[in-house]
Amino acid sequence: MRDITGLLHNTDNLTGSDLAMAEETNALLHQYEHEMDAMETVYDILGARPFYMDFDEGGNISSCIWSDRYRKKLGYSGEDDFPNEVESWIKTIDEEDRDRVVKVFHETINKSCENEKFDIEYRAHKKDGELRYIHSVGIVRRREDGNPLSLVGLAMDVTEETINNLQLQEQYEIVEALSRDYLNVFMIDIPGRTASIIKLNGYVTEGFGDTTKRTYPYEPFCAQYIKDRVYIEDQEVLTRMMALDRVKEMLDQNDVYEYGYRAVDNGEIHFYQFTYLRLVTKSGHDKVIAGFKNIDAIVASANERDALRVMSETDIMTGTFNRGHGEKLARECVDNGEKGMLCIFDLDKFKEVNDTYGHNAGDKALISVARSLKHAFGDDNIVFRLGGDEFSAVAKNITDKEKGKELIDRFFAEINGLDIPELAGSKIFTSVGVAFFGGENGEEDFEELYKKADTCVYESKKTEGNCVNFYS
Ligand code: GH3
Ligand code: MG
Repeated sequence: MRDITGLLHNTDNLTGSDLAMAEETNALLHQYEHEMDAMETVYDILGARPFYMDFDEGGNISSCIWSDRYRKKLGYSGEDDFPNEVESWIKTIDEEDRDRVVKVFHETINKSCENEKFDIEYRAHKKDGELRYIHSVGIVRRREDGNPLSLVGLAMDVTEETINNLQLQEQYEIVEALSRDYLNVFMIDIPGRTASIIKLNGYVTEGFGDTTKRTYPYEPFCAQYIKDRVYIEDQEVLTRMMALDRVKEMLDQNDVYEYGYRAVDNGEIHFYQFTYLRLVTKSGHDKVIAGFKNIDAIVASANERDALRVMSETDIMTGTFNRGHGEKLARECVDNGEKGMLCIFDLDKFKEVNDTYGHNAGDKALISVARSLKHAFGDDNIVFRLGGDEFSAVAKNITDKEKGKELIDRFFAEINGLDIPELAGSKIFTSVGVAFFGGENGEEDFEELYKKADTCVYESKKTEGNCVNFYS
């Protein structure tokens, strides 16, 4: 508070109009003292720090005064480390905000500016670097020609509010985003072990639909939901997944925790997913948002995509890979520098089989041959139909004739053992050609490899019955 004692008039020896004038002046000084006192109180309450600027006739700053409050709040001690200059202030503004704030400041004091008020929020750094959010408001008084005369302003530290607002905004956006997809949304208080309803649009468990009551104990709520809604086979696992300790553990590692399960609605099974999202609140309380949504559409389209993919890769009649997919896989093996053997199979006199026993019998024979191939080559290898009565197979890591022959003989044994009633005891014979890839003498180029195996089929055709030739 300003000390006015030295300014007060001594009225002891005054009389008449002198006394009256002195008393009036003293009264004004006391009023001034009270008003200054009141302003200090206002600054205290608002946490505000005043500053003043005067301008010369040309509109340039002639003096700039930062109050001690202003300096102290930013961690400066006096004029030595925070001189009465505009630059002292500009230096405190965060680099990202600086241009914007200085622009608004100059625009406000500009002669042609209609706006008398300077009102802006920005980030500033204290002397020790600590970041604060500042709300600055100033009023410009002008000369008759429009040039600025003075600017009186107040700066307030709004860090806490701003951070709170930013968090609230963020949280609001999360809840908004969740609300679009999620039928039911809850706020979970982990330490308090409660669930509070934010939004209820989907089916709700019995006893939890009372909108006047918004907060429920978490555990009974979960247990009831799981019992009433979750498909029996998924109940046990969901009980574990939704347990608060589990939720907390998952959210300690990640901000989002999701899990899919099956729910029952009118006797039908539906796919559901829960999402727990962690919200960081200023109070340090662990607040979590939980959303529950139906994901039938997503699951259905994923299943459809799977089905379409399988269909596009499979030879419908025999169930082996089709030529496109099989060739792609075989080519990948060769291109990746793996080693093994590529085999081509052409059934012998298959036209006759069709002509003699009918096309249906022929189909059955093709299906049986495909099965025999898959049996002989196993799951790790690639079997595919080239088309018509031709098949191909890749046996990985078989690089010599001896091992190759063992495998092809296994296939011959398989088809020899086939018993297809429609063929009335007659046997299916196959001509096989084999070429090696990778390894020491293996072919590196897929097209060449294929041609090599194909010429061997041609060789094998010259021999009656099952026959295999290896390219050498
Ligand atoms: P080769 O010993 O020279 O191979 O004589 P081939 O009669 O087997 O002659 P080729 O391989 O050139 O002809 C394949 C025959 O396979 C032609 C067709 O009648 C038959 N075929 C092709 N696709 C199918 C099919 O999907 N089902 C049935 N049942 N037969 C098919
Ligand atoms: Mg044939």
